[in-house]
Amino acid sequence: MIKITKFGGSSVANAEQFKKVKNIIQADPARRFVVISAAGKAGDDKNKITDLLYLCNAHVEYHVDYMSVFEMIRERFFRIKKDLGLSTPIEEELEKLSRDLPGISVDELVSRGEYFTSRMMADYLGFPFVDAKDVIRFNYDGSVNFEETEKKLNVAMLKYERFVIPGFYGSMPDGSIRVMSRGGSDITGSILAKCLKADIYENWTDVSGFMMADPRIVKDPKQIEKITYAELRELSYMGASVLHEDAVFPVKEANIPINVLNTNKPEDKGTIILDTIEPSDRDPRVTGIAGRKGFAAFALYKQHMADDAGFLARALNVFVKLGITVEHMPSGIDSVSFVVREKETANRVYDVIAALREELKPDDVKFMGDISLIAVVGRNMATRPGTSGKIFTSLGADKVNVKIIIQSFDEINILVGVATEDFERAIKAIYHSFD
Ligand code: ASP
Repeated sequence: MIKITKFGGSSVANAEQFKKVKNIIQADPARRFVVISAAGKAGDDKNKITDLLYLCNAHVEYHVDYMSVFEMIRERFFRIKKDLGLSTPIEEELEKLSRDLPGISVDELVSRGEYFTSRMMADYLGFPFVDAKDVIRFNYDGSVNFEETEKKLNVAMLKYERFVIPGFYGSMPDGSIRVMSRGGSDITGSILAKCLKADIYENWTDVSGFMMADPRIVKDPKQIEKITYAELRELSYMGASVLHEDAVFPVKEANIPINVLNTNKPEDKGTIILDTIEPSDRDPRVTGIAGRKGFAAFALYKQHMADDAGFLARALNVFVKLGITVEHMPSGIDSVSFVVREKETANRVYDVIAALREELKPDDVKFMGDISLIAVVGRNMATRPGTSGKIFTSLGADKVNVKIIIQSFDEINILVGVATEDFERAIKAIYHSFD
C-alpha cells in the first residue's frame, strides 16, 4: 500500500504543527512519500512564508530594502529549527539567499519556502530529502512532462523507499526552477500519486474535508463523506475551495481517491473524492450547496425568436466582441437571458444594451444586476425525483423569489438565481430542507 501524504502550509507553520505531522506519518507505515508546502499561517504565525517571499521580490523590483522582510522569513525557519532541536544546516544557505536574492528569478526565490520547510521536515522525520527540481519536470509550455517525471520519481522511490519532497515547484528543460500557481503543492501531491501509482492521495489541511454548505452561512453544516470529481468541480466553481482545482486531473485519470484530512483533528474521516461512486440509498440526495454573488443578466425579448435562424449566435457574438464571458443562458419561448459576471460588465451595461439592440433589433432588452447563483449539487439527484420540488418548496416557504433556474442535462447540478439580498436566506432554506 502506498499513500502520498501532502501537508499544507498551516500543517507545517511551526514546531507544534511539525509534531502533529510526525504523529500522523508514524501512525501508518504506508505514508512513505510526503509532500510539504511552505510554512503558512497557524496560531501566532500570521504570515505565509510564500507571501513574504513574494513581498521580498516586490521590494527588489521597486528598489526598496528587502532585508526586514527577509529577516521575518529567517526568524520563522530558525525558530522551527531551534524548537525542534534540528541540525539541518540552513544558516549558510539562507545567508547566501539573502545576498543573491536580487539576482535570482522570482520562481526560484518563492520556491525556497517549500525547499527549506521540507528540508527541516525530512530531518525531523528522519526521511531522505528529494528536491522537486530533480524529479518534477515541466515542458517548455509549462505543462508537466509526465514521462520524465514518472521515471525520475520511480528511481527516487526505488532508491529511498520513503522521502520528503517540496511541493509547488519543479524544473524546466533548461534546469531553471518554475513554480506552479498558488496552492500548487496540491498538484505536486497529485503528480506523485499518479506517477508512483499510489493507492490513495491524502491531502492534509486545516479543515476536515468539505462541508455541505459554507459554515459562515449555515451553522454546523454536515461533513461531505464522499464526493465525485464532477461534483467537486461544480462546487469549487461556486467558490467552495479547499483543494487546488488542477490537483484533480492527474489522479482522476488514474482513478486514485483523494482523502482531504485535518492535521489538527486526525481522527476525523474527512472527505473522499473519487471519479465514480456507486449509487447507494444511504448516500444523501444532495452532496453540497455552494453559492456565488456578483452576477448580472441581460434579458432579450423578441416575438418568434426561435424562427430567427442565427439569433442566438449573433447575440453571443455581441458578448464575444465586447470580451464578456457568458456563463449561462436560461431561455423562454420568446426570450433569452445572458448571465454574466457583474464585474465584467461594470460601466459597460449601456454599451451591451446598445450593441444588442443594434445587432438583434429585439422587442425589448432588460438588465438585472445584484444576482447571486446557488448551486445545489448531487450525483444522486438524477435517480431521486423530488429534489427540485424540495428546493423550490423551501425557497417558497421562506419567501425567496427565484429569478433564474438552470438544470444541467446530467442532473448533477441545479442552479438557482436569487437577488443578492436573499442569498444567505436561500442557502439556509435549501440546506435545511435536506438535513
Ligand atoms: N506555498 C505555495 C502557496 O502559498 C504553494 C502551496 O502552499 O501549495 O501558494
